[in-house]
Amino acid sequence: MHNTYKTNVEIDWCPGCGDFGILNALTLALQDLRIPNENVVLTGGIGCSSKIPHYVNVYALHTLHGRSLVQGEAVKMANPELEVISVSGDGDGLGIGSAHLVAAGRRNLDMTYMIFDNGVYGLTKGQASPTLPYKENIKSLETENIKFPVNPIFLALASGYTFVARSYSYNIKHLKETIERAIRHKGMALIDIMQPCVTYNNINTKEFYDKRLYDLEASGWNPVVNKGDDPSVKISQAVQRSMEWGDKIPMGVFIQYERETYAERLSTLIHGYGTRNMVKEPIDQNGKPVANIQEVMESFF
Ligand code: SF4
Repeated sequence: MHNTYKTNVEIDWCPGCGDFGILNALTLALQDLRIPNENVVLTGGIGCSSKIPHYVNVYALHTLHGRSLVQGEAVKMANPELEVISVSGDGDGLGIGSAHLVAAGRRNLDMTYMIFDNGVYGLTKGQASPTLPYKENIKSLETENIKFPVNPIFLALASGYTFVARSYSYNIKHLKETIERAIRHKGMALIDIMQPCVTYNNINTKEFYDKRLYDLEASGWNPVVNKGDDPSVKISQAVQRSMEWGDKIPMGVFIQYERETYAERLSTLIHGYGTRNMVKEPIDQNGKPVANIQEVMESFF
């Protein structure tokens, strides 16, 4: 079937980059879910990964460094009918954008956040990113990495994401299915995607991941918390599983549970929010503004 979610824009990722697999998985997932192109908004920050909004045939925003997620949240709040997907690299999302990552978990908007995780700032010549393991001496660095890494799965679990998963750019079937599950999930979903950078990271390569990644759920892990149950026990078990990083690395969904979305909580404060779509509200009638500014100002004073 013709993939109607790909654009004709020339792709300038390096040959063999893991980003290609993510592009394929994302566009196939959108096609499978039959979401009309015009109902999807994709936001990216700055980095190799964040060029993907140019390559997917949907509404797209190529934003500022670390600001992909917050732009996506703004779109979702303004028009909850849209399917919003934000993407970041690990440098973009877990470095300068890390405060937004935490805040988004606390809000629990109904949207998806994908992190293209390769351990480096690829666009700026391979500096160590927040996920590069301690003491790793990849070819783009003069010396070994002297910083300890952040664990994106752990951070997402602690921040309140209600769907947290890891997948792999060279396993398109697994990644496509994980993206579909994340989009279907009602709440804030995060997918940390292992995405080898073939140009700068010669340690966390395809061979590295092919040997180590195993399917968490096929090994007996059930990520789902039953509706109404307290998720805290499962969250603490998922944190333990997220610490596994060595000869074996788990991939799959670590947790999935339901919690009131931001829109549901907001609707208790703003009359009509969630039932009336803000962007479809008329702002004028016969050329005259609908809002009574004088009334608004009087109530303010
Ligand atoms: Fe991909 Fe690395 Fe090249 Fe960027 S520098 S396009 S992440 S291979």
